[in-house]
Amino acid sequence: MPKVALVTGSNKGIGFAIVRSLCKQYNGDVFLSGRDAGRGTAAVESLNSEGLKPLFQQLDINDPESVRAARDFFKEKYGGLDVLINNAGIAFKNADTTPFGTQAEVTLKTNFFATRDMCNEFLPIIKPGGRVVNVSSGMSSIALNRCSPELQARFRSNDITEEELVGLMERFVQEAQAGAHSQGGWPDTAYGVSKTGLTVLSRIHARKLRQERPADQILLNACCPGWVRTDMAGPNATKSPDEGAITPVYLALLPAGAGEPHGQFVSDKKVQPW
Ligand code: NAP
Repeated sequence: MPKVALVTGSNKGIGFAIVRSLCKQYNGDVFLSGRDAGRGTAAVESLNSEGLKPLFQQLDINDPESVRAARDFFKEKYGGLDVLINNAGIAFKNADTTPFGTQAEVTLKTNFFATRDMCNEFLPIIKPGGRVVNVSSGMSSIALNRCSPELQARFRSNDITEEELVGLMERFVQEAQAGAHSQGGWPDTAYGVSKTGLTVLSRIHARKLRQERPADQILLNACCPGWVRTDMAGPNATKSPDEGAITPVYLALLPAGAGEPHGQFVSDKKVQPW
């Protein structure tokens, strides 16, 4: 059975560049995925014109049925998944006038809650030796450092549970909607908090894998791709999408038998303090 890699939200931007890089380097099938089949198929054709041969899977991480259907497909066709890169994400533009509470709800829905749903459906089918990469952001540590000392202590702790983290993320959304997030100890960045949640979730999931499946040698990490010229970050960012793909692909292709990094936040291929 061939090895297989899946990249979420890869019809454009960094995800698309990750697929391009994996097609060149990965010894297995590479799946480009997107919520819209038309945009996804066009992206596959664009890579075909470069001589690359990704496959396509419809996958809207906000749609539980789409997530389960994709999970079932990989389980039946490949017996699981070797590489999962959770790249799909959203960000409101700075100039957007949508109320902060709505921005908090919408941003956390995709970047935290839906990515968590992806992990919970897919982690059980990650094969021994598998690699999981969560594309977080440097904003996750900036937002962490702007949280109250109490929140920072919980987000840095090694005993925070997934349930506690989910409760804290729900609390952020509720307090943002009530205009009370500052009093609650939260920073003024919904995107940042969503990515703090994703980095902490990665630490929790890595810990769980070590406890529950120690023999499987799966490595799971969060990363920052850098500031990358995409529709999200705009044309003034410093890295090309191909440069933004370097760290996620490095983590996806950590050699067999490697014991680390695991449960880390990685930027420019280096483990960062959390
Ligand atoms: P982008 O160009 O806006 O691309 C985002 C991708 O995610 C698109 O393919 C989009 O699909 C997809 N997506 C959004 N919601 C989805 C959903 N519910 N289900 C499936 N796919 C979904 O952004 P990017 O800059 O490449 O960002 C990729 C990741 O890197 C994000 O997680 C982002 O937070 C992170 N990041 C980016 C930067 C940066 O400087 N660009 C810096 C740090 C971290 P559609 O085309 O259908 O909208």
